[in-house]
Amino acid sequence: RIVYVNGDYVPEAEAKISVFDRGFLMADGVYEVTSVLAGRMIDFAAHMARLRRSLAELEMDAPAGEAELEAIHREMIARNALEEGMIYMQVTRGAADRDFTYPEGAEPSLVLFTQARPLRDTAGARNGIRVITVPDIRWARRDIKTVQLLAPSMCKMAAKTAGVDDAWMQEDGVVTEGTSNNACIVTAEGTVVTRDLSSDILHGITRAAVLRFAREAQVKVEERAFTVEEARAAAEAFVTSASSFVTPVVEIDGTAIGDGTPGPVARRLRDIYIEESLKAAT
Ligand code: PMP
Repeated sequence: RIVYVNGDYVPEAEAKISVFDRGFLMADGVYEVTSVLAGRMIDFAAHMARLRRSLAELEMDAPAGEAELEAIHREMIARNALEEGMIYMQVTRGAADRDFTYPEGAEPSLVLFTQARPLRDTAGARNGIRVITVPDIRWARRDIKTVQLLAPSMCKMAAKTAGVDDAWMQEDGVVTEGTSNNACIVTAEGTVVTRDLSSDILHGITRAAVLRFAREAQVKVEERAFTVEEARAAAEAFVTSASSFVTPVVEIDGTAIGDGTPGPVARRLRDIYIEESLKAAT
């Protein structure tokens, strides 16, 4: 694989970052993951807008202008002959002597790499995934897409140990989101329910697109908090993310959702999402 590090395209074994990089020492960095279908990017402008917001919240300089970031993404697709998969981009505040306050004049670090893998035809899409609920032990600014991913890693390990696919995080019995995706349920009346936007959750790019497509398809949408109990009794459940699109959830804490197979609303929204995203891909 060819990776990008601070201006250079290099084989991954030759890529180097300072041990004083604040991303490494303090998780002082943000990232975006953009999916690629047919060699083109899905929702790239929305990922750029969220990156801009994450940087602003942390008073971090952008490593390059948006046109240049886009050009680097395209170059990474070309150099890695990426047809289907992900592009990961990380911006950190850069290298400086270790101190909690932000250093003045540090040069932000920019790293990109690609991951080739099937996104359309996956076991999760075909069979749905099983999740457990776990306490949401993350910090209070989940709307900033930082690289501090230890809490979700611990939650995903709890799911793995429990023999299921993923975890939904909850606070006081109310679902926040999945470990790396937004959580949605479908009521008996066919209404899609997903938590409203706040600093409690990441503002998913896929979530926004799926809600837009749902409304356009006359599917009712309610953005509000829902409990674990409500989720377990729902007609359907699913998750959204750039890497999983729309993926049905067929079991929560050992309780089958609906009839325990991917539901019609989730399958329809997945089909619409892929079709519309391909049309609009850049
Ligand atoms: N929530 C969390 C906690 C995530 O890590 C992610 C994926 N990075 C998402 C939601 C989904 O966001 P997106 O649709 O932008 O990939």
